[in-house]
Amino acid sequence: RWAGILHAGKRDEAEQTIFDKIVAKSIPSQVVFEDDKVLVFKDINPQAPTHLLVIPKRRETLSQLRFATAEHEGILGHMLAVVAKVASEEGLGDYRLVVNDGRGAGQEVFHLHMHVLAGRPLTWPPG
Ligand code: ADP
Repeated sequence: RWAGILHAGKRDEAEQTIFDKIVAKSIPSQVVFEDDKVLVFKDINPQAPTHLLVIPKRRETLSQLRFATAEHEGILGHMLAVVAKVASEEGLGDYRLVVNDGRGAGQEVFHLHMHVLAGRPLTWPPG
């Protein structure tokens, strides 16, 4: 079954997205870090001097965070560990980590991703 094959959780029903093409390298991106499970690349429309996106390479993992189950704990924990590693290695200093879950929260690409924002003062609450 999928979970056994992917080690990343069950497939959900969402369509393919532009991030699948970025993972496949059929469209270019500025990759900051990658391993077998995740890709970290620069956002094309940066909202801060540093704006990175952290995505699972296998889109079928999750389209959005709300569909996460216990099966996804491994990939979700790994994504957070990668954020910490990249923030350290890139010398980001203070940063903000954001997941927009759903259109009303600003999600436009339905392939789970974490935004990492740094390099300017970040106000609270966000808009
Ligand atoms: P929003 O566009 O409201 O931030 P999301 O949370 O779904 O919505 O984030 C999608 C992010 O993907 C955006 O920040 C957008 O700039 C970025 N993005 C879209 N296409 C590309 C691309 N080809 N390369 C890098 N980043 C991209």
